[in-house]
Amino acid sequence: MTQDNCIFCKIANGEIPSRTVYEDEDFRAILDLGPATQGHTLILPKAHAANLLELPEDTAAKVLPVAQKIAAQLQEKLGWDGLNLVQNNGETAGQTVMHFHLHVIPRYQGDGQKILWNPTQPEAEELDRVYAKIRG
Ligand code: AMP
Ligand code: ZN
Repeated sequence: MTQDNCIFCKIANGEIPSRTVYEDEDFRAILDLGPATQGHTLILPKAHAANLLELPEDTAAKVLPVAQKIAAQLQEKLGWDGLNLVQNNGETAGQTVMHFHLHVIPRYQGDGQKILWNPTQPEAEELDRVYAKIRG
């Protein structure tokens, strides 16, 4: 199922042209127009799902094998030194296109990119409180 006003639905289903690096029945993987690094690829499911929670479980189960194929393809063709998988959900987390996508970002020594967070140092009690909330 696609959504009328969703640009990634149109790209995933071939209505808008893209630099497709991989395609199968369920997914199209395209080069990002604003890449963090050379080869930055987005894996788009062909059926619309806004985010991880909306993604059907069987589609979710197929995403990582696709990422693995693309990682191997990019390794062979571009020879990355490292690779990040990034997947943003919600504006607070940096999601700008509300159609699920997994970023595959090859990393090269000295590429100047930072895809990391600032670690905090909570007391053990605070960790325990959060843990109790999640498990309770
Ligand atoms: P996110 O911030 O996780 O939602 O990522 C959205 C990504 O989509 C960004 O990296 C954009 O550069 C990329 N992007 C937006 N529009 C297009 C497009 N038409 N074709 C390819 N990449 C796009
Ligand atoms: Zn969509």
